Amino acid sequence: MLGDDLPVRLSDGTTVAYANLDYAATAPCLVPVADAVTELLPWYASVHRGAGLASRRCTLAYEQSRQTVADFLDVRPDDHVIFTRNTTDAMNLLARALPPHTTVVTWAGEHHANLLAWPNVHRLPVPADLPEVTSGLTRALADLGDAGPVLVAVTGASNVTGEVWPTAEIAEIAHRHGARIAVDAAQLAPHRPVSMASAGIDYLALSGHKLYAPFGAGVLAGRADWLDAADPYLSGGGATRHVGDEPAEVQWQTGPARHEAGTPNLLGAVALAAACATISAAAPDVLAHHEQELLARLRDGLGALPQVAELRTFDADHDRVGIVSFTVADRRAADITHRLSAEHGIGVRDGLFCAHPLSRKLLADAAVRLGRPTDGYAIRASIGIGTTAEHVDRLLHGLRQVINTPRGR
Ligand code: PLP
Repeated sequence: MLGDDLPVRLSDGTTVAYANLDYAATAPCLVPVADAVTELLPWYASVHRGAGLASRRCTLAYEQSRQTVADFLDVRPDDHVIFTRNTTDAMNLLARALPPHTTVVTWAGEHHANLLAWPNVHRLPVPADLPEVTSGLTRALADLGDAGPVLVAVTGASNVTGEVWPTAEIAEIAHRHGARIAVDAAQLAPHRPVSMASAGIDYLALSGHKLYAPFGAGVLAGRADWLDAADPYLSGGGATRHVGDEPAEVQWQTGPARHEAGTPNLLGAVALAAACATISAAAPDVLAHHEQELLARLRDGLGALPQVAELRTFDADHDRVGIVSFTVADRRAADITHRLSAEHGIGVRDGLFCAHPLSRKLLADAAVRLGRPTDGYAIRASIGIGTTAEHVDRLLHGLRQVINTPRGR
C-alpha cells in the first residue's frame, strides 16, 4: 500500500506513522495500481482517436480495463460497463437513463448519491429491523402496481454503519414485481466479492478511489436496454456515429461509448482495473478474516467505553464490512477527531457522512441507548487492506485518553 508508515508530526513535536482509519472516505493506492499507471504513462496517448502505436496501445489498455472490471463484477454477457467519475456520477447517469415515468424506490438511509439523484422517488423510512426491509419493499412495490417502470435503488453496505444489505433478496423481490434493482456498491465492492449475475443485480455503481485506485474513475455496470435507449449522458465527440450538417442530424452510438463522450479517463480506468485484478487475485477469505478480526477488535474496544455508543440500523451481530460509526456522550465529535489526529496521528472522520437522514436517526437512537445527549455528529473509523491491529489499538487508546482528559494534555 502506498502511504504505509507515512510519517506525521504530532502536537508535542514527535513523529509517528499515520494510522489511516478513513478508508470508507477514500482508500490509499495499492502498489500494483501505481505500478500499472506508471508503466502506461510513457505510452500515454489518445484513446479511440489515433492510428499511432501509442494510441492503439492506450485504446487496448482502456478496453481491457473495461473487461477486467466486468470480470470483477461478474456481469452478464450483454451488460454494459461504463466508466464514470465516481459513484455519484454513475448514479446520476443511471437516473438520466431511466425510461420515462420510472419510479425509484429507495430508503431514507441511503448515501446522498443514491438519495438525491432520482427524479421521481418513493423514499421508504429507515427500517426498524431487517425483516422490515423486505416487508416494506414488498408493500411499496405492490402499492405501485402497474404504475410504470420501477427501479429499487439500495446500498450494498452502509457507509455509516458498514451493515451489509440483503441485495440478492431485494433483487428477488424487485424482479417478482417486475422491477429492477440498482446497487450502490461504493462500500461493498472494496470489501466483498460481488457477482451481479448471480445476485440478480441489474445495475451497480462504484468508485475507484474507494477501491484503492484513486485516479478519478468510477463505474456504472448494468443492463444494456435502458442505457442504449437513453439520451447520451454527455453530448460530444466519441458518443456519435454520424453528425450531419443539420443540428438534428446526429446518430448516437450504442454501448458504453454512448455515455462516455469526450476523451476518457484512461489512467483512471487502468488503475481501477489493476485494483480489481489485485483484489481478485488475493484470497478473499484471507482479506475477509483480516478485516473481520480488526473490526471485532475495534467494536469490542468501543463497546467497553461506557460513554460511547455505536450507530446501527440492524442488530449488533448483523453482517458488516469494516466501518464503525459511533458517538461520544457530552462531547463534540470534531474536537475528538481533531485531537486523535493532532495527538495520536490517527485519521478518522466526523460528521453525518453524506447520509444526513440516516446519521441523524441513528444518532438519536444512540443518545437514547446512552441516556445522555450527543452533539449531533458521529465519528467514523473504517478499515481496509493496510489497516493493522496497532492502528485499531492506537485509536482505542487515543479515544480513552481524549475522553478522560477533556481539555487536552
Ligand atoms: N455511496 C456510498 C455508500 C458512499 O459511501 C459514497 C461515498 O462516500 C458514495 C456513494 C459517493 O461516492 P463518490 O463520492 O465517490 O461519488
